[in-house]
Amino acid sequence: MEATKRAALCAVCALSPRKYKCPACESPYCSVECYKVHKGSSNCIPKPNTAAATSTGSPLDRRHDKDESAALRALLDNPHLRSLLTEVDGAQDKATAMRLAMQEPLFVEFADRCLSVVAPAEGERED
Ligand SMILES: [Zn+2]
Ligand SMILES: [Zn+2]
Repeated sequence: MEATKRAALCAVCALSPRKYKCPACESPYCSVECYKVHKGSSNCIPKPNTAAATSTGSPLDRRHDKDESAALRALLDNPHLRSLLTEVDGAQDKATAMRLAMQEPLFVEFADRCLSVVAPAEGERED
């Protein structure tokens, strides 16, 4: 008398003995055909540890833009920065005035923030 173990059968067709295991969910299957069926079905639920690695992009990224403009506004509230901007704006030689202003960390920070608000993706690109 031979016992039939259901667990030893393919999880897809339940007819043939299982030979392989799905790499994602470890479901047993008997052939490539059954694997294709299994993979395309809702029966293939990847184990949590493998699924976690696939979801990266978080909604937190969206908050970044808002933070930048808030920081920019805060910087513009700084009287020292305002006087620097006024100086550059009223200077005959704007290039020189700009260069002098860029020696102020505050102004550099302001310029950086301006750029990251205008073109946030630019900073992530590397040449
Ligand atoms: Zn099968
Ligand atoms: Zn699977």
